[in-house]
Amino acid sequence: MAGSEAYDVVVVGGGFAGVTAAREAARDGRSTLLLEARDRLGGRTWTAPWRGHDIEYGGGWVHWHQPFTFSEITRAGLAVELSGDPDVTAWYVDGERRTGTIAERDAIANAGWMRFVEGVEESLPNPHDPLHAIDRLAAMDELTIAERVEQLGLDREGHEVLWAELESLAHGPLDDAGAVSVLRWHALSGYSLALTQYTGGRVTLAAGTRGLLDAIASQAPFETRLSTPVAAVRRASEGVEIETRAGEPVRAGRAVVAVPLNALAAIEFDPPLSEGKREGIALGQASRGIKIFIHAEGDPSAQNAIRPGHPFGYLDTEFQHADGSQIMIGFGYDASVCDATDLAGVQASLDEIMPGYRAVAATAHDWLSDEFSNGTWAIHRPGWYTRHYAEMRRPEGPVLLAGSDLAAGWSGFIDGAIETGIRAGMWLRNPSP
Ligand SMILES: Cc1cc2nc3c(=O)[nH]c(=O)nc-3n(C[C@H](O)[C@H](O)[C@H](O)COP(=O)(O)OP(=O)(O)OC[C@H]3O[C@@H](n4cnc5c(N)ncnc54)[C@H](O)[C@@H]3O)c2cc1C
Repeated sequence: MAGSEAYDVVVVGGGFAGVTAAREAARDGRSTLLLEARDRLGGRTWTAPWRGHDIEYGGGWVHWHQPFTFSEITRAGLAVELSGDPDVTAWYVDGERRTGTIAERDAIANAGWMRFVEGVEESLPNPHDPLHAIDRLAAMDELTIAERVEQLGLDREGHEVLWAELESLAHGPLDDAGAVSVLRWHALSGYSLALTQYTGGRVTLAAGTRGLLDAIASQAPFETRLSTPVAAVRRASEGVEIETRAGEPVRAGRAVVAVPLNALAAIEFDPPLSEGKREGIALGQASRGIKIFIHAEGDPSAQNAIRPGHPFGYLDTEFQHADGSQIMIGFGYDASVCDATDLAGVQASLDEIMPGYRAVAATAHDWLSDEFSNGTWAIHRPGWYTRHYAEMRRPEGPVLLAGSDLAAGWSGFIDGAIETGIRAGMWLRNPSP
């Protein structure tokens, strides 16, 4: 420990970004302290038992097109599991239920989707550098997803199918979420809707996200304090002084602040962050959705149904049980209209998207009203890339912001979190202004 500094590095926030940053710092021989507000690590990933399974209340799916995640999975020697196609696929048009194969529904979605993303190869030619052709991306960056869909002039079925798909992708209201979030996911997935769907919902970790997080955390020695929310990050004569909400000071040479974009406003920075960063934090990101698990009895076949504007309008079978019951996962665009603790309400909503099933239990974590996330995966609002992205990533003296919400590549994914943790390690090795 140098001079009067207690630690070389303090990392604020123990999600995948913070844990990776702490590992990088510690692996380089720096004394490192990780401060985490909750009583567990993992942030917006959370593996926990429910009805005989380890379920993922937050992020769960991974993919080999996500380079940072797959590199860590490989290094940790972890196995992945693959899921298959549903037996029954349904979609709704003006309240009328239609069924067919997943290929049939995907063909409807794909027609609108490919028009939505028209020109993406030119505007996002290098998806791990969203500013590479920002002049060409700028017009799309001003649009919400809803505005872009309305430009397409789709027929009713095409509109309703695409809208429902996009609500599950955006995990938020489409008139708030930026259209570039769709383009980015598509570009990162090799410019293909099929792969976009695959990267977002087919491959899971056999040991859960917790297995991967534990592996990263165990690769170098750093100190962790749980249940320690940080209130302030102040510059000191040499480095930074952190103040926890309990009033405890912690001194360090440098700070990596890896908390969600929508939780940054609760931390005081002294001197204040740049005006550009404060504007980016005030804008925040638009996701406010729900991921709900429903244990249901009924037809034992694997189901998948989508319905626009529904409290969990993307509903899919996750686990099938020997007794014929199943666990479904639903994604909805607004957590405030879906209460997993109200089983009668869940049943009423289930009847409207997958009739014939009886909900026997339901669970979800409300990431929206959780003050340490205030939302789910990052879906940036219009103007993010043109006006905020670069500035949010610029270090200020001894302070660097990190986290998936600010990632270059898979922002909004575990991969983006690990990416910014790796980048934080690079900055600690070679700080640039
Ligand atoms: C429901 C849901 C489903 C998702 N599905 C997927 C998926 O299938 N695949 C995928 O790749 N990604 C998915 N994601 C996204 C992915 O989980 C996140 O992008 C990623 O985990 C974010 O990691 P992070 O470290 O940047 O932030 P976080 O995981 O949010 O970590 C930030 C940490 O900072 C802490 N913190 C906040 N404020 C303070 C404070 N004042 N002081 C100290 N600590 C603080 C928080 O408690 C948290 O632990 C999903 C997310 C959600 C919520």
